[in-house]
Amino acid sequence: MKNRSVLVTGGAGFIGSNFIPYFLENNPTTKVVNLDKLTYAGELSNLKEVENNPNYSFVKGDICDRSLVQSLFDKYQFDGVIHFAAESHVDNSINNPSAFVDTNISGTFNLIDVAKSNWMEAPFKYKDGCENNRFHHISTDEVYGSLGETGLFTENTPYAPNSPYSASKASSDFIIRSYFHTYGMNVVTTNCSNNYGPKQHDEKLIPTIIRKAISGENIPIYGDGTNVRDWLYVLDHCKGIDLVFKTGKAGETYNIGGRNERNNLYIVNTICSILDEIKPADKSYKDQITFVTDRPGHDFRYAIDASKVENELGWKADENFETGIKKTIDWYLKKYTD
Ligand code: NAD
Repeated sequence: MKNRSVLVTGGAGFIGSNFIPYFLENNPTTKVVNLDKLTYAGELSNLKEVENNPNYSFVKGDICDRSLVQSLFDKYQFDGVIHFAAESHVDNSINNPSAFVDTNISGTFNLIDVAKSNWMEAPFKYKDGCENNRFHHISTDEVYGSLGETGLFTENTPYAPNSPYSASKASSDFIIRSYFHTYGMNVVTTNCSNNYGPKQHDEKLIPTIIRKAISGENIPIYGDGTNVRDWLYVLDHCKGIDLVFKTGKAGETYNIGGRNERNNLYIVNTICSILDEIKPADKSYKDQITFVTDRPGHDFRYAIDASKVENELGWKADENFETGIKKTIDWYLKKYTD
C-alpha cells in the first residue's frame, strides 16, 4: 500500500491521544496531522510521546473553519480522515447545547464536505487515485437511546437519542451516512460504548472517583448508582478503530463494545476496594461515596452487541473491566500524586 497521509481531528482529547501513538506505531509509513481546537478537553501534554515523531504534526484549529481544513488538504494531500473531534460531555450539553450543534453537526458536515470536494469529481465519481481514500467517523452508542434491563444495541437498532449530546452525534452520523448513499463516498462509522483508561479528562466518572477518593472528598454518584454502561478499555477501542479504518466495508457502521456491562455502584465499589488494597487510608474509601441528584434524562442502560466487528473483522477486546481498571487506577494515581 502507498504511504498514507491521514487527518486526525480531536487528537488531543481522551481517545484521540491514546489513538495517535498506537496508530503511528502500527502504521510506520503513515503521516498523521492532528487538527484540534484545544478546547478545555484537549490536552497536548498527553501526546508528548509522539511530538518528535517525524510522521506526526499538530495544527491548532477548528474543524468548522472551512478555509483552514481546505488549506490542510492542499498541504498534506490527505487520503484518510479519522474524525474524533467533538464536544463530548453530556452534562455540558445540557447546560450549553449550542457548542454541540456547532462542532458535532456543522463541524462534521464541514469536514466531510471538504473531503468530498478534494477526493471526488462532481458529482459522484472519485478522482483518479482517490478511490481508496476513506473517511472514518467516530460515534457513540448513545445515539440508540436507553435500554431496559435486557437487550443489546446492534447496528440495526433504531436511533433514539435523548440528550443534546447524543442528538448532535446522531445528526452527524446521518450526515456521514448520506454522503455514502448520495455521493458514494467511502465512509465508515464506529459507534462505541463508554471508554475508560489513561488520559481521560478529570470531569469524567472514573477519574473523578479516583481523584475524590484519594483527596478525601465525597465521591458523587448520580441517583441510586444503578445506571449501567458497557465499559470499553480505550486501547481496545483504538485497535478497533485502526482495524475498521483499514478493513471495514464502505458505507457500514460497526458497534464496538467491551461486553463489560457494569453499573456505577459496581464501578465505584471496585475502585474503592482496589484503592483500599494498594493505598490504604484510615478508613475504607467506600465511606466517601455520596449519592447526588440524578442527571436530567439520564439513560438507564447502554450495552453493545459487538458481534459484527468481532465476526466480520476479527476484533476482540483484550481487557475485561477488572484488568483494565487496575491499569487505569495506576495511571491516575501517578498523575494525581506525582
Ligand atoms: P474529548 O472531549 O476528550 O476530546 C475531544 C477533542 O476534540 C478535544 O481535544 C477538543 O479540543 C477537540 N475539539 C472539540 N471541538 C473541536 C473543534 N470544533 N475543532 C477541533 N477540535 C475540537 O472526547 P473523547 O472522549 O476523546 O471522544 C472522542 C470521540 O469519541 C467523540 O466524537 C465522542 O463523541 C466519541 N465517543 C467517546 C466516548 C467516550 O467514552 N469517551 C464514547 C463514545 C463515543
